[in-house]
Amino acid sequence: MKVSAQNSLRVTLSRLLAGLIGLIFLILGLGFLTLPDIFAMGFSVQPMTIQGLNAIRGNFGGLFLGMSFFCFLGAATKRWSWLIVPMVFLLIIIIGRLISLGLDGFFATGTRIVILEVFLLIVLSVSARVLALKAGTNENGLKVLEIINFKTLIAAVIITCIPVLLILSQKKIGMGLINSLATQAMGSDIMAGWPDGVHVALCGSGSPIADPRRTSACTAVIAGKNLYLVDIGPGSERKLELMRLNPGKVKAVFLTHFHSDHIGDLGELMLKRWSGGSKKNPLDVFGPTGVETVVKGFNQVYSLDTQYRILHHGPETVPPAGAGGLARSFDFREGKDEVVIIAEEGLKITAFKVDHAPVKPAVGYRFDYKGRSVVISGDTVSTPSLFKQARGADLLVMEALQPAMVRILREVGEKIGRTNISKIAGDILNYHASPEDAAKIAARAGARHLLLTHILPPLPVSELKPAFMGEAKKYYKGPITIGEDGLLFSLPAGNKKIMKKWLL
Ligand SMILES: [Zn+2]
Ligand SMILES: [Zn+2]
Repeated sequence: MKVSAQNSLRVTLSRLLAGLIGLIFLILGLGFLTLPDIFAMGFSVQPMTIQGLNAIRGNFGGLFLGMSFFCFLGAATKRWSWLIVPMVFLLIIIIGRLISLGLDGFFATGTRIVILEVFLLIVLSVSARVLALKAGTNENGLKVLEIINFKTLIAAVIITCIPVLLILSQKKIGMGLINSLATQAMGSDIMAGWPDGVHVALCGSGSPIADPRRTSACTAVIAGKNLYLVDIGPGSERKLELMRLNPGKVKAVFLTHFHSDHIGDLGELMLKRWSGGSKKNPLDVFGPTGVETVVKGFNQVYSLDTQYRILHHGPETVPPAGAGGLARSFDFREGKDEVVIIAEEGLKITAFKVDHAPVKPAVGYRFDYKGRSVVISGDTVSTPSLFKQARGADLLVMEALQPAMVRILREVGEKIGRTNISKIAGDILNYHASPEDAAKIAARAGARHLLLTHILPPLPVSELKPAFMGEAKKYYKGPITIGEDGLLFSLPAGNKKIMKKWLL
């Protein structure tokens, strides 16, 4: 009687422990499913694009929810064999971690995680053992020794050999991989397969504050076969290349104003366009008055490097006349707030005044091509000229700062004694538009899709997006996209479609 009571207590305890581990897996699984970015951060994993988020929700969520399901099933049915499933997964995870500690390098947190997982595995094993004994000589479940025979041993050896062979062949695999990556990067023209029309790609959707998913201001506009850039903030030239948009093909750059987060990579772009495309003419850099100073400065800064490259690669490869940029300044007629700066091959580009005071001049650009239209606001508060230009646009690319979030930055800065940061966070509130302002403009102008860019503050995890959006959806019923680097919008000529894709 006493022995039976003891057994019953052991069984209850084992079921409780299996259930508790199931609960831990359930929380992790539901977390990955609903808050993928936040839970991934806990595992030092960061999705590169929406595809990464999809993988985190699906793969991580699925793994933990699956393990949780079988823990609960074992606990509920008292059948030890169900616990084999999470045990096998835990064992494989532990083996993977040990391989990583050996190959990638040792780190203290990694060791602690392995210890925790080994602990969970031991607890599950003990629980399974207790449940098996209670069932009496394993009749209820799988007999482990039964599956160990000659065939399974051969299979185990083969399975072990595959990763060993792959690890030993890493050098060969690397050389093959670099070959195919280089062919992919240099050989194909990503724009070649795109339909005639306007395509808008975000090569920089961030602000001056570092954001792991967004470099500073840069919007690529492809009209027909021509590639134009609106602004070229720090880091955006590399982003352009990662998106497989060839800097050697950039036909012209349009600057909205001369804040550093809009011009920082102009020198890099001019250099890459020249050397990558063997250009014989300097890059056209359009902008309002002041663009001459900016272009002259970058030309001067890069003048020594230009000489080195001509000496090294020869004038055939890098024609001296094509280095640097050529400022193409424009102005507005008295009483006018818009000016057409390009009208050729069915493309019209209009510059218009915006309000980014005290920064003057500051402009936005409207692209019209074969019945499709894109308006890029530049940095601005809500202003009548922007509303006028955005009228009927297919895509309104609008800068956005969320005031409620930036006020928090200001308060945090104040609290921790970073008074300069706090002052700047307070100052910028009055010369940017909020998502709500952007939504109101899009709604009044009848724009068909609103794309928010120049995202401020940074949104390092996607769970911040609803808070960033604020009340914007109340004011605009059309689709609103919060910009991320690599996003591409295609507006084919001759129809009304707006298609969204990723270039990263
Ligand atoms: Zn600005
Ligand atoms: Zn800016």
